[in-house]
Amino acid sequence: MNQNRSAVYFMPVLDNEAADTMDEKIKRLFDEAGFSSIIKPNKSVAIKTHFGEKGNRTHLTADQIRPVVDKVKESGGKPFLTETSVLYRGSRSNALDHILLAYEHGFTYENVGAPIIMSDGFLGVWERQITINGDYYENVGIAGDAIAAESMLIVSHATGHVLAGLGAAIKNLGMGLSSRMGKLSQHSEVAPKVEVSQCDLCKTCMKWCPEDCILENDGTAFIQEEKCIGCGECIAVCKTGAVQFSWDATSENMQKKMVEHAYGVHLEMKEKLAYITFLTNMTKDCDCMKSKEKMIPDIGILASYDPIALDMATLDLTQQKNRENLSKLAFPQHDPLIQINHGVKLGMGSKEYSLKEI
Ligand code: SF4
Ligand code: SF4
Repeated sequence: MNQNRSAVYFMPVLDNEAADTMDEKIKRLFDEAGFSSIIKPNKSVAIKTHFGEKGNRTHLTADQIRPVVDKVKESGGKPFLTETSVLYRGSRSNALDHILLAYEHGFTYENVGAPIIMSDGFLGVWERQITINGDYYENVGIAGDAIAAESMLIVSHATGHVLAGLGAAIKNLGMGLSSRMGKLSQHSEVAPKVEVSQCDLCKTCMKWCPEDCILENDGTAFIQEEKCIGCGECIAVCKTGAVQFSWDATSENMQKKMVEHAYGVHLEMKEKLAYITFLTNMTKDCDCMKSKEKMIPDIGILASYDPIALDMATLDLTQQKNRENLSKLAFPQHDPLIQINHGVKLGMGSKEYSLKEI
């Protein structure tokens, strides 16, 4: 990879492109990016993606993952899909429920042509520590089997993100492949509070809080700070905007911690990693949330060996389409360049890229 200017391959798609032409375009993008070069004959290839939370309908589909699986097989590799458990309550907090939901969302062997192997074990607690000597961590906790495959494709869906502004390749790598403790640690500085004048005591946050630390107090919700792990679920599910964070301080630290976890995987896998990002069905919130309206017409699919360049291109292309980039449209209070610049500082890639339109 050229550290100064990385190649980002760009396959434009129509808004709501038909499945058969989408299939062809994904395969062509894979070929143009030369991704068969990271695949060794008869060796395992992990495809890290996101199966979508229950009720989410804008996540990547089995039809979009199938062509990637086909290309891996054509290149001689043995593909499998992989994911990790999430912190919050819902349908993806352990491997069994997560895999059953993935099937419900169409990611069966029959549809995709590859099995699912969770990277962090049945309960989501299997991890390895990787030494990174970063600004925040000497070691980071990565899902135990995230680095076990011979090579890995990080297949991401670009969305906004409630804490990071942008959720794309870096987030899929860093948050998506960190262990449960790694995820906890990334969220640990976020300290939400309930603005009582905006709380109607609907109790939704109480149902979602993984730590049972939201109580009813004087006709409103009250967060017990000392028990809070800072996962951010309450702010995401609160319909009235009553749960509030100190955005400036927390988003910056969270983004940099997320990048340092991504850096851990990057250091271990290096030239065995490649990235594909879909700029389709882009929504304000990430796929851990129920679907909302898409914010931007579909743009295309990107491929690169450099996750930093890929996320920079995601911001640039969405800005060209809408005058504001995806992160700014979704969560204007966040600056996604924090994650990008920290990735550059750590040596994960380059903000400078050459866009190669196909
Ligand atoms: S979700 Fe929001 S409005 Fe509902 S109880 Fe929690 S803080 Fe109050
Ligand atoms: S109160 Fe804390 S632990 Fe509970 S959902 Fe909110 S951020 Fe997560």
